[in-house]
Amino acid sequence: MSASHEPARPDDAPRGRLTVLAGPTAVGKGTIVTELRRRYPDLWVSVSATTRPPRAGEVDGVHYRFVDPDTFTRMVAEGQLLEWAVVHGRHRYGTLRGPVDDVLATGRPALLEIDLQGARQVRAAMPEARFVFLAPPSWEELQRRLVGRGTETPAERERRLLTARAELAAAEEFDHVVVNDDVARATDELVSLMGAAREVG
Ligand code: 5GP
Repeated sequence: MSASHEPARPDDAPRGRLTVLAGPTAVGKGTIVTELRRRYPDLWVSVSATTRPPRAGEVDGVHYRFVDPDTFTRMVAEGQLLEWAVVHGRHRYGTLRGPVDDVLATGRPALLEIDLQGARQVRAAMPEARFVFLAPPSWEELQRRLVGRGTETPAERERRLLTARAELAAAEEFDHVVVNDDVARATDELVSLMGAAREVG
C-alpha cells in the first residue's frame, strides 16, 4: 500500500511499466538519470541501497540509501531487495522491492538504473519489464570517459574497464539499445521507451 498521495488505481487498470537501464561503467547512466530527473521530475526513479560510502555531494535517500554492511545483509535476508549485486568486485548495491511495487501498483512507470548482474536478476523475476542498454558511441569513447571522470584510482579504473568490456558484449541480451551520443537525445529516447512521454511535462 503506497503511503504517498498518488490517486488510487482502478482495480482493472494496468500496472505501470518497469524499465531497467543498464550499460557499461562510465557510459553515462548517471548523467542520463540526472537529466531525466531534471526534465521529467514526475518520473519515478528507484533509489538503490548501497554499502559504498557517499561521494562528495551525494545525499542519503536522494542518490542512494547508504547503509552499513550488516544492514545490507539484513535487507537481503528479509527479502527486501528485488535484486542485488557486488559491483566492480567491491561494494554491494541493491534495489528496494517495496517502493518499486508501490509505484507500479499506481499504474505509473518506474525506472531502475542498475548493473548488468542486477538487470539479469530482474529479468528472471519480472520478464515483462523493458530492458534498455545504454551504449557508448564507441569503445574508444568509453575509455576516454572512464579516464576523464578522474574519480577512481588507476587500479580501480583498470577493474572498471575489465567489467566494461564484458558488459559491452551483453548488449544483445537487451530489448533496446540507446546510444549515448547526446545526453538530451538519449534521455528523450529512454523516456519514450518508458512509455511516459505523454504523462509528464
Ligand atoms: P557508482 O558507485 O558509480 O554510483 O555505481 C556503480 C555501479 O553500480 C553502476 O554501474 C550502477 O549501475 C550500479 N548500481 C547502482 N545501483 C544499483 C542497484 O541497485 N543494483 C545493482 N545491481 N547495481 C546498481
